[in-house]
Amino acid sequence: MASNKTSSEEGSVFEKLGGLNIETPVAIEGKIKTRKAKASSSKAEEGAVQQVAEVEIELTKVSPLNHFPKDIMITQDSVFSAEQRHLQLRMEKSLRDALAFRSKAASILRTELCEGKDFVEIETPLLFKSTPEGAREFLVPTRTPGLAYALPQSPQQYKQILMASGIPRYVQFAKCFRDEDLRADRQPEFTQVDLEMSFATGEDVMTTVEAVVKTLWQKLLGISHEEPFPRLSYEDAMSTYGSDKPDVRLGSKISRVEYMLPVDLIRKIGPLHDPIVEVLKIPISADAKETRGFVTKFMDSPAAKPFNENPEGQPGIFICDPRKPLSGLSVFGFEAAETIEETLDLEEGDLVVLQARKNAPHAGGSTPLGNLRLALHKFAVQHNYMPAPQGFEFLWITDFPLFSPSVANEPGQGGAAGFSSTHHPFTAPKTAEDVDLLLTDPAAVKAEHYDLVVNGVELGGGSRRIHSAAMQQFVLREVLKMSEERLKDFDHLIEVLRAGCPPHAGMALGFDRLIAVMLGKESVRDVIAFPKSGRGEDLLVKSPTRMTEDQLKTYHLKLRE
Ligand code: ASP
Repeated sequence: MASNKTSSEEGSVFEKLGGLNIETPVAIEGKIKTRKAKASSSKAEEGAVQQVAEVEIELTKVSPLNHFPKDIMITQDSVFSAEQRHLQLRMEKSLRDALAFRSKAASILRTELCEGKDFVEIETPLLFKSTPEGAREFLVPTRTPGLAYALPQSPQQYKQILMASGIPRYVQFAKCFRDEDLRADRQPEFTQVDLEMSFATGEDVMTTVEAVVKTLWQKLLGISHEEPFPRLSYEDAMSTYGSDKPDVRLGSKISRVEYMLPVDLIRKIGPLHDPIVEVLKIPISADAKETRGFVTKFMDSPAAKPFNENPEGQPGIFICDPRKPLSGLSVFGFEAAETIEETLDLEEGDLVVLQARKNAPHAGGSTPLGNLRLALHKFAVQHNYMPAPQGFEFLWITDFPLFSPSVANEPGQGGAAGFSSTHHPFTAPKTAEDVDLLLTDPAAVKAEHYDLVVNGVELGGGSRRIHSAAMQQFVLREVLKMSEERLKDFDHLIEVLRAGCPPHAGMALGFDRLIAVMLGKESVRDVIAFPKSGRGEDLLVKSPTRMTEDQLKTYHLKLRE
């Protein structure tokens, strides 16, 4: 592409370029030349010139390949809506960078698992069937009257079938579909790094996943974790942090104090008879007056509302102030105030929070005090009382209860037992004693179920599975008390387990969430090319759409009024 152009022709090329709307795609011809560094006055300037480019192009021809319309305004501060996701992606480099990062992470995970650890990547069907695995499913009607597929909430059953099929180690970047409440930054379709290992225990899976996660952090973020990830039982996590996915970076451990409090104080802090009372401290500032200001701000904010409306009692909030009698804790009584001051190692300006809860075993993912711990820390960071926590603190949570009380409007397994599987109904009891407890006290059975948590986010979870057909049947029929009709939905799995299925265990990592955490993004939407809105819609393509009369007819469907 030698340039024989005269300077007036070159001028016209530039005029043409200048006449095009910004964002017009063009083909260019020209001559690539080494960029002459202009004489720089300082070392810093020299560096900057080098960073710009080492080559430049002497343009000889510019041909527009399309138009960019005048009605789309692009300026430096243009903000595009989700309807214009293509322009969001085009204009926000950080979004494109996140997608590139995601692609690199996928490639590292594939290499580590498939080349490093002999996993085989296998695709399982997306047109599956409806089974009461735990989450609400999306159905796909067929043209045969009354027949529907279900999209998989996870490839759980297929991967267990692979274990019975002689595949020793399976992995898949699996699309999963759950028709769930979308408020908590959830997507109706999401990606899991789903894996399963035969002749393996939960311990084997945790070791494998931990190694791969450490490599990922090392390769992409340059962060090493030499020590094994700490482990905490569900029970300990709930009583120490009020959460089954604690952010341990925040400190503020919870302890029980009801045994040392005066009876009239216990009566004052809530309506419960014989409650558990817990306490924690948050060092908001070194000045009691400043902490008082923080408390007023927090209590007046919408963030405080759910805690003030807690039917088990409002939180009791105190500020350590050495100028006051018993440092501001006199309602605790002399002995309790002294002990609390000592055990919490209180200093001026520390916030002390007291909360009652029912005297019952832990269930679910958090306690009100656990939620308040997070809300207070978040508020303190937002209002510059403390710096945002840094780094990545991983944690395995183990020994979950095998069953949890059924929750209204949550599908669970739909059995008559009043409880559902905490994880899914294929999770194995942890020990021989736990197997015995299935008969006598199912609520007390611990599961060989583990979650990987980082900075208060659940990265994923898994379990050792029941591999005996008889035990699986017993759990479904006798313990969960599922109806005969729904039991039939699992006949395929029982048949597969019966055919000498080896012991197996596995896990799935939420890939969208994992990338969001690695990049410090608030929302998984920032790491998904085409995320759904909070109402489950794709606002660009405008899905879902209303079914036409023809479509309804094709699928033999009729809309109810
Ligand atoms: N299928 C499970 C889930 O989606 C993960 C697993 O147990 O491997 O949570």
